[in-house]
Amino acid sequence: MNVTVFGTGYVGLVQGTILAEVGHQVICVDVDAEKIEKLKQGHIPIYEPGLEALVKENSASGRLQFTTDATMAVAHGDIQFIAVGTPSDEDGSADLKHVLKVAETIAEHMEAHRIIVDKSTVPVGTADKVSARMAEVLERRGRAELTFDVVSNPEFLKEGSAVADCQKPDRIIIGTEDEATVEVMRELYAPFSRQHEKIIVMDVKSAELTKYAANCMLATKISFMNEIANLAERLGADIEAVRQGIGSDPRIGYHFIYPGVGYGGSCFPKDVQALIRTADAIGFDSKVLKAVEARNAEQKTTLFAKIREHFGGELAGRTLALWGLAFKPNTDDMREAPSRVLMEALWEAGARVQAYDPEAMEETQRLYGTRDELTLCGTKETALKGADALVIVTEWQSFRAPDFDLIHQQLSEPSIFDGRNMYDPARMARKGFTYYSVGRLPSRG
Ligand code: NAD
Repeated sequence: MNVTVFGTGYVGLVQGTILAEVGHQVICVDVDAEKIEKLKQGHIPIYEPGLEALVKENSASGRLQFTTDATMAVAHGDIQFIAVGTPSDEDGSADLKHVLKVAETIAEHMEAHRIIVDKSTVPVGTADKVSARMAEVLERRGRAELTFDVVSNPEFLKEGSAVADCQKPDRIIIGTEDEATVEVMRELYAPFSRQHEKIIVMDVKSAELTKYAANCMLATKISFMNEIANLAERLGADIEAVRQGIGSDPRIGYHFIYPGVGYGGSCFPKDVQALIRTADAIGFDSKVLKAVEARNAEQKTTLFAKIREHFGGELAGRTLALWGLAFKPNTDDMREAPSRVLMEALWEAGARVQAYDPEAMEETQRLYGTRDELTLCGTKETALKGADALVIVTEWQSFRAPDFDLIHQQLSEPSIFDGRNMYDPARMARKGFTYYSVGRLPSRG
């Protein structure tokens, strides 16, 4: 099938590539000419395991093409995906300007029936707005006879495993009431729904809300666990034991109940906020979502509070080694990352940071390269040199079994502030560290 994908970010690039991989003819279009030029040369602008090889293979086979030419792109795909960003507006609601711009572009250039597939995360009612905007443009062009259908098909991939998630989706939500469109979408996604039925068809609004409900449920799990962890810490209980204890109940399960330093990234913060604003707009008080957001904002400050307290409230002149900058492992994405809140608080208090991340160094350089209080280090070991203490913010695999003797040697005060509960407190004490983690009492060597 001929498919066009607007937007070559985490969602558009991965989805477009995976659709090409199963045999569809895909054109990916972006307004960012530099990005498209790089992609044409096989340079992938983001880090996603497995993506580079697939882009190269499918580009070489001719099934995957990149362009900035909207006319050609709209002419190509019977199916036109919208996979552009929907950032938070000033008030926290989803900013639809990119989505509506793509709607205009498609209506501006289409010459035959088109199925518009909204993959961006958008508030309930957006499909209607996309339809209205397209109808306006077609009317203006004097081509009101051209037909189209707008489908909501939210994306559930996780950054860091985006390729695998798109290749083996848990479910494929198709929101439309048009039977013919459902058939086309079934054909498009048939290669991904072979083992068992993955496609769930529903009305457009329910599909739009499903995406927000999923992300808000996941954010709720995190904030809930962080709340219990904060309680455990104050009551002298061990959150890791509690986690094992509750996860064993299949109604709760072990997934996504890790305490930490708060959720970040490009999705949870903005999607929780956007659903709160959607509720506000209709006069509904979303009590749970507001609490989830408030707990998360506070959680991002907890590591800093522990560090400050440890150093007797005096951080000026201190140097902290920081391991992990990306908002989660296996990505270079720094959007809303807890590391940013921590670094900015440390700098504000007069401390210096020596940071290392396996993938997010370039992005950190772009964001904070001009700050004198930050040194970006080539390895996790060099980040330790001359530091007073070690802080861990992202749970990269390569931090799981470090050389503790070396860490002990390098730090002026052998203390570790672990925002991800990577180590065993008793072992850390035996190794001579003062060890702070989340939801567990500090252990002292
Ligand atoms: P992104 O910011 O990485 O990429 C968006 C791309 O769209 C950019 O390359 C931008 O240049 C391009 N763009 C903007 N306007 C355009 C236009 N008019 N025509 C063509 N291209 C245009 O965004 P992303 O992370 O891929 O997210 C896209 C959407 O998918 C968002 O709504 C997001 O909430 C949702 N989503 C993201 C994830 C994720 O993990 N990143 C997961 C599921 C859903």
